[in-house]
Amino acid sequence: MSFTVSTMASLATYIAKNKFSPKPEWQKTVKTEYDSSNPFRIIHTRFGENPDKKPHPLINKRFPLVLQLEPLHACNLTCTGCGRIREYESTITQQLSLEQCLKASDECNAPVVAICGGEPMLYAQLPQLVEALIARGRLVILCTNGMFIAKKLHQYKPHDNLFFNVHLDGMEKNHDIAVEREGVFKLAMEGIRAAKAGGYKVCTNTTVYKETDMNELLEMFEMLQTLKVDGHSISPAYGYSAVNDREIFMTREDILEKFAGFNKKFSKIKFNNSPVYLEFLEGQRDLPCTAWGNPTYNIKGWKGPCYLITDGHYNTFEELMTKTPWENYGHGADPRCDHCMVHCGYEPSAAMGINSKWQDAFTYLGWMIK
Ligand code: SF4
Repeated sequence: MSFTVSTMASLATYIAKNKFSPKPEWQKTVKTEYDSSNPFRIIHTRFGENPDKKPHPLINKRFPLVLQLEPLHACNLTCTGCGRIREYESTITQQLSLEQCLKASDECNAPVVAICGGEPMLYAQLPQLVEALIARGRLVILCTNGMFIAKKLHQYKPHDNLFFNVHLDGMEKNHDIAVEREGVFKLAMEGIRAAKAGGYKVCTNTTVYKETDMNELLEMFEMLQTLKVDGHSISPAYGYSAVNDREIFMTREDILEKFAGFNKKFSKIKFNNSPVYLEFLEGQRDLPCTAWGNPTYNIKGWKGPCYLITDGHYNTFEELMTKTPWENYGHGADPRCDHCMVHCGYEPSAAMGINSKWQDAFTYLGWMIK
């Protein structure tokens, strides 16, 4: 875990405050009509076939933790597993203004802002955006393919609340295949080395596909740790509708098989994922989806219900929270969610302490001092 004690303390305070005193307007259930005449409509089981199904245990605890802010969808790459360049093809040249980005952060007030896209380092006002978010006390995770870090590093000042989060899906050969261009791994590594040498915080994020070799990932993380990279995130890929190549995605069973023995095998690796989420990936514990914990804002507005599925875009964060039928999503509620175990849907559940065990306090303590 690579965050400072004061950052962790303020995150814990924010979570505790919202758990004990959740905003009442955000906790109301949105009832949806079941339209049996439309054969293409997703069947929401909560109010359709099983109206008596019990409410979600967190129904009175909805609040945002991480804002996924997408200032633009343009990218210099066309990664195989990326849905953004496909789903937002018609608005790919459009960008949010700096004011719109900051308004979104102020509106939802999530303590963590992950700036993604697209490739955010192509956004001309990114340095000003980062500075303004840090001034607001946000923890900023700048998600990038790493190719522009070395070139543009001088535009940013190192800060405990700023992380360059570099996308790496394997060692050189396989990463370059995943991003569909040779030389990307080398540039990303150059960026990581330059940022570390300049005193910046750097972490990585990795998506695990059907073909991913877990031994290769272990080799990659061990290599990154010799460069003093501050932490790593990992998530199984999810075959949502915006991505064409279905072959690379895993079912829930595939994921559990892929992650069997993960925590033991990767015990020396410093993950930013919470240990509870990693137990979930191994099948050691069940977690519900809490997509409201990780809202997404982009050129079309607030994307509901989650980073992956788009059933609507809302003009305001308030509308996203109050008009989305949250209970209709998640494993067992919507067929599109059945194989989803991605971190943006389930990491907030771990952080919020859902399905917690008494040992979790010690597990988290070990994670924090790792
Ligand atoms: S389970 Fe949650 S995060 Fe995953 S696709 Fe469904 S709503 Fe989105």
